Amino acid sequence: MILVTGGAGFIGSNFVLDWLEQVGESVVNLDALTYAGNLRNLDVLQHDARHHFVRGDIGDRALVDRLLAEHRPRAIVHFAAESHVDRSIHGPAAFVRTNVEGTFTLLEAARAYWSELPEEQRAAFRFHHVSTDEVYGSLGPTDPPFTETHPYQPNSPYSASKAASDHLVRAWFHTYGLPALTTNCSNNYGPYHFPEKLIPLMIVNALSGKPLPVYGDGQNVRDWLYVKDHCAAVRVVLAHGRPGETYNIGGWNEKTNLEIVHTVCALLDELRPDPAGSHARLITFVQDRPGHDRRYAIDARKLERELGWRPADTFDTGIRKTVQWYLDHPQWVAEVQSGAYRDWLATHYAGG
Ligand code: NAD
Repeated sequence: MILVTGGAGFIGSNFVLDWLEQVGESVVNLDALTYAGNLRNLDVLQHDARHHFVRGDIGDRALVDRLLAEHRPRAIVHFAAESHVDRSIHGPAAFVRTNVEGTFTLLEAARAYWSELPEEQRAAFRFHHVSTDEVYGSLGPTDPPFTETHPYQPNSPYSASKAASDHLVRAWFHTYGLPALTTNCSNNYGPYHFPEKLIPLMIVNALSGKPLPVYGDGQNVRDWLYVKDHCAAVRVVLAHGRPGETYNIGGWNEKTNLEIVHTVCALLDELRPDPAGSHARLITFVQDRPGHDRRYAIDARKLERELGWRPADTFDTGIRKTVQWYLDHPQWVAEVQSGAYRDWLATHYAGG
């Protein structure tokens, strides 16, 4: 049994599905179901006894204590977070609350639970903290990619809150010996991605003939990884990573935002042609995000060297699968756009 936090979000739900398929071990899934949590992502698990969903906040110590005592997990995989940079600019408080205080509460609950475990189980226990490459700050055009020893230089409230949580995890290992691991991953894309983020936003807007907003000059560079490769990397680090270590996860796919948007448009032109012309006609440049980091790039060689992980998908294969997934799931998209997934939630979790 493992405890996953944030398992109804984009990466967390992909992870839970992947974990049950690849490992098959039961999961307690603790998620507050904020706007970003969507139980529709886990529809196929409705009657799967290996998945136990609990709606709740990682900052609720009594609840976390109860779940740990009841389910006795051998590991915690911590995805839950406020994750959207734009939202962090307009409302940073929630980011400090969940990403910093929430992680602190989870660490404290984990420490209390872990310290009472029998010796053997204590050595095998893992706290896996899922983090981002954004903690490292921004790179110049010719700088080498971020390694695990790159100094932390977060620039947005989101990345600062994630950096703070990484430091807490590090300290809980060094001070208390909690067997914790941290992974810092580059930008993910794939199924179940909430359409406030670049790739799903472009797909969803293009399909409904809306403008495709690109920040600034569109030349900001991100390193992209297909979400299922991230899930596989977390599995590998959880199984074989050394406690106290951090591992970068990346796809060796640096792309400018504008390249991404053109790629999405070209795929849509091929898979769902628009009689009005190429989807690229909808590209609209908008005022840049304040403090917008220019470039992120990840050096994932430590993970490959020490644990043998490499991404299975290239950007070309991953982005094609992703665009096809959105075309194949119009109902998921419609429910997210209309907010109907929240109504569904209210009827299923009334008072819960
Ligand atoms: P997401 O916003 O899609 O999902 C976050 C989930 O956490 C949601 O289901 C939400 O309901 C839940 N949640 C939020 N606050 C909570 C709280 N207080 N208690 C319990 N649950 C809560 O995010 P994501 O894109 O899936 O990211 C997951 C993790 O991976 C985050 O920690 C993020 O920092 C990290 N990460 C994301 C990316 C990326 O490209 N999306 C890249 C690297 C790392």
